[in-house]
Amino acid sequence: MTPSPVTTLIFDVDDTLYDVGTGFTAHRNKAAPKLMVEKYKFPSEEEAQKVKAEYFSKYHAIAKALKMAQLEGKFPEDAPEVKTEDIATFWAEGLDFSMLGPPKTELREQLSKCNCTLVAFSNGPRKYVKRALETMGLFDLFGEERLYAVDDVMPHCKPEKEAFEKILKNIGNPRPETCVMVEDSMKNIRGAKALGMKTVLIRGSSENGRILKDDKPNSEDPAVDCSMASIEEFFTMLPGLLDASPFFDPVVVDK
Ligand SMILES: [Mg+2]
Repeated sequence: MTPSPVTTLIFDVDDTLYDVGTGFTAHRNKAAPKLMVEKYKFPSEEEAQKVKAEYFSKYHAIAKALKMAQLEGKFPEDAPEVKTEDIATFWAEGLDFSMLGPPKTELREQLSKCNCTLVAFSNGPRKYVKRALETMGLFDLFGEERLYAVDDVMPHCKPEKEAFEKILKNIGNPRPETCVMVEDSMKNIRGAKALGMKTVLIRGSSENGRILKDDKPNSEDPAVDCSMASIEEFFTMLPGLLDASPFFDPVVVDK
């Protein structure tokens, strides 16, 4: 690949900006069936888990998965309507964010020196994503302006083309070729690549806790331009992004 100019870095959040090995995603995953029992009147967490698993593997965003499951009659009849805001509140208030570890000071420092537009784009609900970014000390790099959550793209979500296009439009329509999508999900990597973006795959330190087992990182996939174990290696692998005129030219490593 020849070095090419970059204007925009788009970061997924869960299992990308923090490691899947922290166990935080597994912890969050367990909270959904609890919410389905407490708020949406499922008779047991086991039954809730079955419905959640089926729809999450199809839709890849919990808010969209639960909305679709309800539309298709998989919820108890007397359940209130699923609202993204309610899921966001349940997660933002009920999860143990300390599992994310101390603030990511070094990453923050490097990102703040990068001469690209920085965007966070998650399939999680906004209030939750904001809390996760705040805990990692990264929120103000993006601010409300450059934080996109599932609320902002519904009824779509990643990896749908419409979701990516909406973000690109909102940030002033940079050419997709000048955007870099940083992700742990192969579905989303392929979606971004199909639009012409550069892709960086974050493989993570373990498979323990990853929700979608059929979506596990594969560096060999042709949609992957650059792959690394953790976000902490980002600028080591892509030093051109710290140039005054940022460019994409991954350091090739033998593993
Ligand atoms: Mg992710």
